[in-house]
Amino acid sequence: MTGRISLVGAGPGAADLLTLRALSCLQAADVVFYDRLIDPEVIAMAHPGAELIFVGKHVGAHTWPQERINDVIVAAALRGKHVVRLKSGDPGIFGRATEEMSAARAAGIPVELIPGVTAASAAAVSLGRALTERGETDHLVIATGTCKPGDPAPDWAALIRPGTVLALYMAVRAAGDMRAALLAAGVPSTLEVQAVSEAASPRERTVTTTLAQLPDAMRAGRISNPAILFLRWPKQAGAAQLLAAE
Ligand code: SAH
Repeated sequence: MTGRISLVGAGPGAADLLTLRALSCLQAADVVFYDRLIDPEVIAMAHPGAELIFVGKHVGAHTWPQERINDVIVAAALRGKHVVRLKSGDPGIFGRATEEMSAARAAGIPVELIPGVTAASAAAVSLGRALTERGETDHLVIATGTCKPGDPAPDWAALIRPGTVLALYMAVRAAGDMRAALLAAGVPSTLEVQAVSEAASPRERTVTTTLAQLPDAMRAGRISNPAILFLRWPKQAGAAQLLAAE
């Protein structure tokens, strides 16, 4: 009998940010394939008899190529297992979920997605503020600083304008290039930038700075991966203040 595959969002780290649906799925799993960013406390919530397999990868240094992950999860499901593929945050945000769902569907295996708390939500909480602020920012853009190898660099200036919060994933290394591109495009150097690393963990660190001070402020604040960068460009009064401060 064919098993099934659940692509489960584990949230940003803290075990109590797991959804009840994710928890019940973990407790029903025969085998759990998990990533590098998954907290050991979350993995410990799996069924005691479940097989636990690390398929972690590092940005730029893939120890487990995506195709191999696709193959092993499909193979386990074809052996009749209920496979949980545990991913950090929300599996549908920079989580390679499409590749794994396609592999499952191509093999005729039922597959489901279980959403999770994405890193940007947790990082906003670390800063004690909302992702969108009425009258200031009504446009939330989620983007990544690390594209597929061979892809052109992101068009940074196209991602932000007055009224925008830009939440950047995997952008620590790209911060210097992003700063240069935005300043060259005329984005105010006083634009507020906040960075949060390891949100929702005891190691969480935050930095509040300006575009001009990035990435020096990130170095001083010891912001390293995994981290979210927020660029906030408020509209109306906020934008006028930014320009006046230049
Ligand atoms: N699917 C995940 C994102 C995976 S991409 C989600 O929805 O959150 C990995 C990137 O997510 C990291 O490089 C970092 O930018 C971000 N990230 C994941 N966990 C994080 C955390 N606890 N704190 C800050 N950023 C995090």
